Amino acid sequence: MNDNPAFGANLQPFMGIPSFMRLPATRDLKDADVAILGVPFDSGTSYRSGTRFGPRKIREASLMIWGHNAALHVTPLKTLKAVDYGDVSVIPTSIEHTMTAITQTAGEILASGATLITLGGDHSITLPLLRAHAQKHGPVSLVHIDAHLDTWEAEFEAVPYSHGTPFRYALQEGLIREGEYMQIGIRGPVSGENDYEDARQLGARIVTIHEVMEKGVGEILKEVHARMKGPVYVTVDIDSADPAYAPGTGTPEVGGLTSYQLLQLVRGLRGLNLIGFDLVEVSPPFDHGDITAILAANIVFEYLSLLALKTG
Ligand code: MN
Ligand code: MN
Repeated sequence: MNDNPAFGANLQPFMGIPSFMRLPATRDLKDADVAILGVPFDSGTSYRSGTRFGPRKIREASLMIWGHNAALHVTPLKTLKAVDYGDVSVIPTSIEHTMTAITQTAGEILASGATLITLGGDHSITLPLLRAHAQKHGPVSLVHIDAHLDTWEAEFEAVPYSHGTPFRYALQEGLIREGEYMQIGIRGPVSGENDYEDARQLGARIVTIHEVMEKGVGEILKEVHARMKGPVYVTVDIDSADPAYAPGTGTPEVGGLTSYQLLQLVRGLRGLNLIGFDLVEVSPPFDHGDITAILAANIVFEYLSLLALKTG
């Protein structure tokens, strides 16, 4: 009788069935502090798809994360009980059904008391996630790291939802606290000046990549800490990183953050009242050598480390 487990932390990274960081794959949330949830959905994508393969690839890339965060001096899984909850049951041909399923699954997890970390999927998944979090915590403070505003008007009038519109609706639905929404890393060609003005009118504080590079990440983080007074939700679009570091994404924009700057940005959120996180837009078919998925897995690990510091 072979008593080697089928998966888990005792195996070599290249062995076993890949769950996030080799965590137990289970829907039993008893005493769980953190649940990792995949949303393999990319039908909110307006250009090139492929992010439905994101959660699985990020899980695979996470197998090489050994567990100790030497920069933050914490071993998150020592203080936190975390599980890999698996994926939301998405319907690739229906964004509306999928959004309902996301809010429902996220709501179940949040009701158990666990903090939710979600792996996308395209950015349309963040609206139903915000709905679930606002149901529990009330309107949230939102840190949104992205190349794109994602506050556009519906591109397709009959279906308002896409990966370009989630924050317009989140603002309109009152899911975000007034004056506590920052978009960081914004760049790239837009249809006109109106796009930025429109986002500002809706209530976004736009921090362009130019501002990040001029002031440095530290200055931007000071503003984040000064502004965010409520429960803080963090959403990271991997296209905030430069395509040189994160080519595996659907809508790449040149002149972005380095991997290190993105790590710094997330690490610098330490001390905020962090209540939820998602990482979206990893599209493995466009990746090279898995570098985008590896960056994504490490960003998630950075956030997990912050949660451990918060409770530990
Ligand atoms: Mn986005
Ligand atoms: Mn984007």
